[in-house]
Amino acid sequence: MSEIRVRIAPSPTGYLHVGTAHTALYNWLFARKNGGKFILRIEDTDVERSTKEMVDVILDSLKWLGIDWDEGPYYQSERFNLYKEAAKKLEKEGFLYRCYCTKEEIEERKQKVIESGKAWKYDRHCLNLTEEQKAAYEREGRPYALRFKVPEGMTAFNDGLHGEIRRDNKEIEDFVVVRSNGYPTYNFAVVVDDSSMGITHVMRGEDHISNTPKQILLYKALNLKVPEFIHLPLILAEDKSKLSKRKGTVAVTDYRDMGYLPDAFVNFLALLGWSPSTDKEIFSREELINLFDIKHLSKRGAVFDHKKLLWINSEYIRSMDAEKLYDYVKPLWDKAGFDYSVFSHEDLLRLIDLIKERARLLTDFVDSASYFFKDVEEYDEKGVNKHFLNEYAEDNLKLLYEKLSEIDSFEPDVTENVYRKIVEETGMKAGKLIHPTRLALTGKTVGPSLFHLMEFVGKERTLARIEKALEFIRNRK
Ligand code: GLU
Repeated sequence: MSEIRVRIAPSPTGYLHVGTAHTALYNWLFARKNGGKFILRIEDTDVERSTKEMVDVILDSLKWLGIDWDEGPYYQSERFNLYKEAAKKLEKEGFLYRCYCTKEEIEERKQKVIESGKAWKYDRHCLNLTEEQKAAYEREGRPYALRFKVPEGMTAFNDGLHGEIRRDNKEIEDFVVVRSNGYPTYNFAVVVDDSSMGITHVMRGEDHISNTPKQILLYKALNLKVPEFIHLPLILAEDKSKLSKRKGTVAVTDYRDMGYLPDAFVNFLALLGWSPSTDKEIFSREELINLFDIKHLSKRGAVFDHKKLLWINSEYIRSMDAEKLYDYVKPLWDKAGFDYSVFSHEDLLRLIDLIKERARLLTDFVDSASYFFKDVEEYDEKGVNKHFLNEYAEDNLKLLYEKLSEIDSFEPDVTENVYRKIVEETGMKAGKLIHPTRLALTGKTVGPSLFHLMEFVGKERTLARIEKALEFIRNRK
């Protein structure tokens, strides 16, 4: 078998959509699994809507996901000569005809047909022009598009997932190949490119199934080898409709900015429509590559389950070592303006280990770390009512202040011992000591293990924060 060559062909008219990332991932896994090549092609023939900025975002998104390409990026905008040549050849051989209809003329005829209750398909107005009519249009200087004259018959292909798909050519209109502004259409450029790039398998979203027969007609007219087609299930929103901007976040970069890890995101995407028939849900990239098989693709669209994504992300965070997490977290701390220069690298790693047990997103390392680096500015209001404004908090915090002042080491077992002793001597519930302390030290009601936290905050700052909390309580009472 010859080398497998697959591609992803995003249009830079928007951010990298999770659907495109999903398709890219499956193509990439397929190439990596089979020792093939994964090619990146930017489909920027829609010059009005394509931007350089979006190209950069798409490249950054793929890089962030760790989906690396072996060839490209190729840009369709730099390949116009190829399309021109192919169009010339097709026109010469009688596969195309010039269409002088304006948009408005077509629209008018289309409305009439629709009003009469019929389905519209280009009515071949320009296929039947006389030589005089053509000459008149030319004299007028009317621009023309090139349309493909769809032959009679059936067009069929064997989809790698859905099996045989057949279309009666009667259902296909004489589609435009080159627009009147000289630009090739998607269906045309894609065939010229997939062929010239030696693509063996076209794996893309099933929303393209209706394009495939047109593309096959073009392959045949150009006398080119037709690749294999595999149409992938679409990603669905929670209400089972197609995932779209209106239905939620679709840009890959947004997931990056929300604090997802690329490996976790890739793991999650991989399972949307593919399952290696095990109960396992966490897979390394190597495992995904080894297990990936078209046979295990699902025909049905998979729902983008945010809760599952969050769960997978927390699993990745928890199992990642602190040093590696540090590389992700440091830029976030810098952005938040934290001054952590007084802490040693080891201390920071310990802090990361402390926070990661409860973290679900990388941004949690900012929220949960703020009280390590900065003084507590405010207290959670519900926490205040529950843990500060009661009959015991003030006394207990005073007592703790005293006892904690007496110890020098703030190692977790030493501070824990202080608490245990008080509990033993007074018989009160540990919570009456722990909750007010946590609120005093962090401003929050939940967080990492209190004694580990105190070790990191240190004696001086712990005492200062207890003092501040006492003042707060006195003012509120
Ligand atoms: N530019 C097309 C898209 O983004 C590519 C479709 C294809 O893979 O053929 O949908």
